[in-house]
Amino acid sequence: MKAMNGTWLMRGKHVLTDQRKKEKGVLRDGAIAIEGDRIAAVGGFSELEKKYSGARVLGDGKQLLMPGLIDAHSHGRGMSPIQKGVKNDFLENALFDWAYMHLLPPELCAGMTAYHHIRSGCTLLHHNGFDDDGPIGRSRAHQAIKVYLDSGVRLAFSPGVRDESKLALDEFAFFKTLPADLQEWAKPRVQYDKAQIEADYFALYAELLSRYDGGDTRILLSPSWAHGLTEKFARRVVDTAAGKTQIHMHTLQSPVQKAYGLRRHGKPTMQWLDEVGLVAKNVTFGHAIHVTQADIELMGRRGASVTNHPSCNFIMRNGITPVMQMRKAGVTVAMGMDDKTINDDEDAVMELRMMHKVHRLSSYELTEPPMDAYEALEIATINGARVCGFDGQVGALAPGMKADAVLVDLERVENEPWLDPRSDIVEAFVQRAMGSDVDTVVINGRVAMEQRRLKMLGVDALFREVREFCSKGLPEEQRKRAEMLARIKPYAQKWYKGWDEPMVNEPFYRVNSRI
Ligand SMILES: [Zn+2]
Repeated sequence: MKAMNGTWLMRGKHVLTDQRKKEKGVLRDGAIAIEGDRIAAVGGFSELEKKYSGARVLGDGKQLLMPGLIDAHSHGRGMSPIQKGVKNDFLENALFDWAYMHLLPPELCAGMTAYHHIRSGCTLLHHNGFDDDGPIGRSRAHQAIKVYLDSGVRLAFSPGVRDESKLALDEFAFFKTLPADLQEWAKPRVQYDKAQIEADYFALYAELLSRYDGGDTRILLSPSWAHGLTEKFARRVVDTAAGKTQIHMHTLQSPVQKAYGLRRHGKPTMQWLDEVGLVAKNVTFGHAIHVTQADIELMGRRGASVTNHPSCNFIMRNGITPVMQMRKAGVTVAMGMDDKTINDDEDAVMELRMMHKVHRLSSYELTEPPMDAYEALEIATINGARVCGFDGQVGALAPGMKADAVLVDLERVENEPWLDPRSDIVEAFVQRAMGSDVDTVVINGRVAMEQRRLKMLGVDALFREVREFCSKGLPEEQRKRAEMLARIKPYAQKWYKGWDEPMVNEPFYRVNSRI
């Protein structure tokens, strides 16, 4: 669907224009005027209606009009592990268990991902790929990007690879612990051509960059993991980004990874990253749960960012990212859903609520304010825009910004049976709304969903194709591979035993005490 011709209006009983301004950023009976892909004006509805007389109006005047939410860390898997037949556990275990999940074709994954995001008011998503399988990864990236762009969602896309520690951390030493028959199978998964991985990766990045990066889409760089990265690769990423392109990387997700950093580099991971130039304004760390106070201060000094994935961090038994401490130190924190959310359906509004709830824990100092709804929203909008490469262009509603906005029905929030008018509407939204209350989604001046119907994505056909694909079961080759990985898993569990013991001694969050 093309952008609507001429100027048109989106109208709200409440209009949240800029989360950073708190209550002052909320207009009553307001509207935005949209021209092409941009917001032309923000103001009172009656005033804009007069100024643009005859313009089409979206919104019934009873809704909340607000900036679209942003998922700054997704892998675009489209369905959860449980939907694909696997339970989640510690990351180190899951990396083996996930081999049993259906490997849906990229267009179905992207279709399901776009569907979940748009229907819960998410207008921009960052798809972080795992593309270290050469030509397959390349065609997968193109197929996924096409579906995203056709669905209407705004996209940041990063191809991602690891060039070491793929099978397990400290892979060569781990390999030696395997019995002979498993060693034979595991050999190519430990001894691989790093130069080829590097060449393929930067060729893919350059290709995606020249083809898609521009006004409405961003291509980012991603060494997938700080714990699967050689110094050579890291330095090339830094050079390629040249301080401008956003770099995204999983970092310190588990205590095992924290221990591994010390083992691998003889110093904390964050310190090593800093020495290679990877703690910087254009760098975002996914998770960053097992950071130290010194790491946080370093990230703050360098102006680095973090994506926090509160539900995923619980699901994977990894802990809690010290978000409040990070914000205090000047770290930009954005929201990521990481394909694993509290309702198992990538509902961006529910994840926003997780953000708001999880990080209210941090202090017993009674005068210390908790995270408020505006801060949670700033994380899930403005900060997301920044780490996805759209700083200042999306995330708020202001003249000149891209028109990414959503209308939320307030019937449940306000009228079941009563919301006191003294209550802040943004607090009410964050504490009471659900993705299913989002009625209309506009992205880049185009209507992607209206009255809960997706306009550019055939949802029925998508569901049918997913069912058809998954009902066939796992291909023989995949099943065999998964069985071999399942046999290796107990060796990995033994391998990591005790690594984390000194790593979680002085937690940021005091939740209770044994004594
Ligand atoms: Zn992730």
